[in-house]
Amino acid sequence: MAKIQAIRGMHDILMHDTPRWQFLEESIKAILHQYAYQEIRLPVVEKTELFKRSIGDNTDIVSKEMYSFNDRNETSLTLRPEGTAGCVRAGIEHGLFHNQTQRLWYIGPMFRHERPQKGRQRQFHQIGVEAFGFAGPDIDAEQILMCARLWRALNLSDINLELNSLGTSESRANYRKILVDYFSAHKDQLDDDSLVRLEQNPLRILDSKNPDMKTLIGQSPTLAEHLDTESADHFAGLKAILDSAGIEYQVNPRLVRGLDYYGKTVFEWTTQQLGAQGTVCAGGRYDGLVEQHGASPTAAVGFAMGLERLLELTDFSAMPDKHSPHVYLLLSGDRAVERGLLLAEELRSQSPRLRILSHCGGGSLKSQFKKADKSGAQLAFVLGEDELAQNQVTIKFLRSDEPQTAIKWSEIVHFLTTKLSI
Ligand code: ATP
Ligand code: MG
Repeated sequence: MAKIQAIRGMHDILMHDTPRWQFLEESIKAILHQYAYQEIRLPVVEKTELFKRSIGDNTDIVSKEMYSFNDRNETSLTLRPEGTAGCVRAGIEHGLFHNQTQRLWYIGPMFRHERPQKGRQRQFHQIGVEAFGFAGPDIDAEQILMCARLWRALNLSDINLELNSLGTSESRANYRKILVDYFSAHKDQLDDDSLVRLEQNPLRILDSKNPDMKTLIGQSPTLAEHLDTESADHFAGLKAILDSAGIEYQVNPRLVRGLDYYGKTVFEWTTQQLGAQGTVCAGGRYDGLVEQHGASPTAAVGFAMGLERLLELTDFSAMPDKHSPHVYLLLSGDRAVERGLLLAEELRSQSPRLRILSHCGGGSLKSQFKKADKSGAQLAFVLGEDELAQNQVTIKFLRSDEPQTAIKWSEIVHFLTTKLSI
């Protein structure tokens, strides 16, 4: 029978890798909590209509990357390709935007049917951050400062901030006309994708990843030249805060984002270290989205980081070992197994931070020692008939030359506290 394998672009994260994931996630959560953002947990599946309405019909995500299917009631559902739409849906549904502000974050898998390659999976993971009810540039700055603090915590140095303002929907509409004129005049130089975008969503041509389009895009008119005063003031306000906080950035007048809902501030954090997939974090302002879903207008700004890409960049050399057992308990003989499991229980109750692995499955002491060594444990405790008779364990140091010793059960906790400082 043919073996069933995981779906292309969707990966198992095995136990050797989960400590690094946990370290990364905990580092990020610690910083989110420093800024008093609160966690929200959202379904992985939503109605397809939600994403069509939020992200935009003519975006890559909606037109070709969504995992959509009909459920048994013939309702079209989609595995979420991003988290903002669901967050907005939940906020409206639970009245979270009514006369109040919110600072929220979420974590979880996202699904996009893209061509799998380094830094690009079909199931990938994001931590997303969204703030609702704040119209000014102060909150945009707060989120950028939060990212900068995170990069420092993770020891990332090669990471650069690109900023742009997409203006209000009116200034985008004017700019759209200017862009259509420009690209229509150079139609012969457009690739197939861009020809479709020219008809449907011309701003998205600027986001083309085709190197052949680079020169043409590089000479296109920019929105900066046509920015409305409200957006220009907002942008200036943001830059002033970043300048005084000493945050470096590049204004990239052709930075647009892959989702239609953005306006005013957009930003991306990019690195040279990941090859073509260099964007690790991206976001911006989407003041129109809540209203677009039928609720009162609500200012909003947020961003999402790709955890797979961040994981590639993070320096784990200083990561504490929180997973290997401190103690491997070797058990020889039926009575020792019975007493040993209870002894391990007592030690866990008395010393909650202790990680003790009790040997299961029998076998010779020699084979148990091999497993103890492989487990990464610092210490081996041996409990056999002799030790049982004297209410003690023999202790061997697996990672140092200290001579073996034997101690009474009642002294184990004290011994561990002094030896392992737990
Ligand atoms: P890209 O331009 O790389 O396709 P995007 O603009 O589609 O990214 P967003 O929707 O803004 O990405 O998502 C935010 C972040 O999530 C990205 O900066 C990236 O780090 C990560 N990300 C997006 N798509 C993928 C994917 N298919 N695999 C892994 N990470 C991804
Ligand atoms: Mg993409």
